[in-house]
Amino acid sequence: MTPSRKTFNRRDFLTKTLAGAGAATFLSCAKKPQSSGSEASPGPAPAITPKEKPLVSRALGKTGILLPIVNMGVMNADNPDLVRRAYELGMRHFDTAAGYWRGKNEEMVGTVLADLNARSKAVIATKVAIPPAQRESLSPVALKDAFVRVFEGSLKRLKTDYVDILYIHDVSNVEDIKRPGFLDALGTLKDQKKARFVGFSCHQNMAACIDEAIGSGAYDVLLVAYNYAMQDDERLKASLGAAAAKGIGLVAMKTQCMQSWYKDELPPDQQAFYSGSIVQTAVLKWVLRNEAFACAVPGFTNFRELEEDVSVARDLTLTDEEKTFLADRKIRLAMAHCVQCGGCRSTCPAGVDTPTLMRAHMYLRYPNVFQARATLESLPAGRGLDGCASCASCVARCRGRIDIGRRIGQLKIHFA
Ligand code: SF4
Ligand code: SF4
Repeated sequence: MTPSRKTFNRRDFLTKTLAGAGAATFLSCAKKPQSSGSEASPGPAPAITPKEKPLVSRALGKTGILLPIVNMGVMNADNPDLVRRAYELGMRHFDTAAGYWRGKNEEMVGTVLADLNARSKAVIATKVAIPPAQRESLSPVALKDAFVRVFEGSLKRLKTDYVDILYIHDVSNVEDIKRPGFLDALGTLKDQKKARFVGFSCHQNMAACIDEAIGSGAYDVLLVAYNYAMQDDERLKASLGAAAAKGIGLVAMKTQCMQSWYKDELPPDQQAFYSGSIVQTAVLKWVLRNEAFACAVPGFTNFRELEEDVSVARDLTLTDEEKTFLADRKIRLAMAHCVQCGGCRSTCPAGVDTPTLMRAHMYLRYPNVFQARATLESLPAGRGLDGCASCASCVARCRGRIDIGRRIGQLKIHFA
């Protein structure tokens, strides 16, 4: 995206380093919730050795929250020490969901932050998922009640009386963005100071959903899948820019979705591109150089990836090697990540929800078998693996280069 002069000026103002002040500054401009009980007072900033550059920070839309540009998507992590280390290195935003590991992921975040006495210094986002069929069948009151009930469980697991950001989990239909049951639930929880800011996460139909959110004025923050495989999606980039200009805080997820996971589908000469940390840093820098985004929440799963992602938060300058990597046409061709464009949805004669199956396959490759299974289970009867007739030759076609039939076959082997 090429930001307008106006956007650049605004971002130039908002994008600051934390020189001297340390990570405690991230929240210094954030309002404290009225209902907080015995929250910890701001403590000292994490140690930064003199040689290290401070983390770059940006404002999260109009929320008043200032965050490091790289934070933690906790979904794939099952090691509390990784969360602890992320905090020590200066990350302050932790993105989880009620559905991740059936609540265990939230429990881990809550336990680590409690152990560190760091709740008031952290920005917690969680998500409440209501299956699509229930969204449509429940009355507005019943939908609101169901949403609030799940969220109350999240607060307990997170060991807190509020979250900073509460998302509707997995919105791809603009009808959900204006659904009264969701809006009532979010509005009530905001009024009760149990959710400081609200939004939704989005993997499919993203430009239309973002546009709807801008028009509704009901959403503070959006969690959007965005990565290098989407570099030609000008419609999405325009919507992101419009949302940022309206003061909606944008957080990027699925930022490094085309690494070694799909290596086995590539010709040997292209597999070489997927080795080394250059992929990890180059594609994350590419995301964050779009200044519509306040930050990213990559789902690192080990300490090496964490360190690599933190290095990006210190300096977004592309190295010569990274520039070469990103400019190489063969690398673009080798990108075998499903961008969730939905283009294949109508190509399966059996009506299988192939984009969602491709997302489940991505989770399987993370590897996050639990989330892959949860995604499959979220599909209505007949739209998932159960609806796939295993045709002799799958006729579902990707607009890109994804072999849909092969991936569905792998899902079946795993989940049969
Ligand atoms: S094999 Fe492919 S075309 Fe056939 S039902 Fe399954 S997804 Fe659809
Ligand atoms: S498999 Fe291809 S066509 Fe289908 S949603 Fe993914 S990128 Fe789009």
